[in-house]
Amino acid sequence: MRITLLGTGTSVGIPMIGCACETCKSTDPRDKRLRTACHIEAGNLSIIIDTGPDFRQQMLRANVRHLDAVLWTHHHFDHIMGLDDLRPYFFDCKAPIPCFAHPKSANVLRSIFPYIWGKRKAYPGTLKLNPADTPFGIKSRYDKPDTINVTPIEILHGRMPINGYRIGNFAYLTDVSHIPEAEYRKLKNLDLLVLNALRPTKHPRHFSINEAKNVAMRIRANQTVFVHMSHQVLHSRESTLLTGSMALGYDGMVLETT
Ligand SMILES: [Zn+2]
Ligand SMILES: [Zn+2]
Repeated sequence: MRITLLGTGTSVGIPMIGCACETCKSTDPRDKRLRTACHIEAGNLSIIIDTGPDFRQQMLRANVRHLDAVLWTHHHFDHIMGLDDLRPYFFDCKAPIPCFAHPKSANVLRSIFPYIWGKRKAYPGTLKLNPADTPFGIKSRYDKPDTINVTPIEILHGRMPINGYRIGNFAYLTDVSHIPEAEYRKLKNLDLLVLNALRPTKHPRHFSINEAKNVAMRIRANQTVFVHMSHQVLHSRESTLLTGSMALGYDGMVLETT
């Protein structure tokens, strides 16, 4: 399985409009962060987690030519607002795209994009929206034999329940500020964990870097990579404070796992 981090920034992206701080002015490419999303390639399967405002640019930059499924972590704008740009994936393949989201986020997505889910056929294809609170399978839209199983992990973003996902020995958790005890059981024996770490200081709805490090030490994946970082994180400075199995992610980072 090959994971590409398409974006590693917090909601405003880095650089932030109007900001002249050290990180926003940095010329280090690792300090240029589109909104957080990732691409998973498993055999012939191509899966996207989150479709934020930078989705189109991310698909072009990573050259994602085919798509078998979309997973949404939650319905905040920085994770969904590129949704309409899924349309080109119908141009060469008319099969519906299965989409998965936490049941509450699925309801919000239906109300934000009524023309996509409604009966008026204003959308050129079908996005099949599935509320995901139990494990499910994904198969190819292109008649390939590949299939893969996905386990939703219910985590808290402030007080809002949202989804993380586990696929094989890879787990992806973003925008989390608390992991319920029962969900830790689904995060055992991970090879790769992608986890949000907003900034050095605390935040009510996101793990700080220290909180993320503590969670990573408890989960003990072979490798943990942090994403969804604000402009308070200058890559060259914060990355030197991490050791061993933990690292800061950056846009375009490619990770191999099982
Ligand atoms: Zn800044
Ligand atoms: Zn959010």
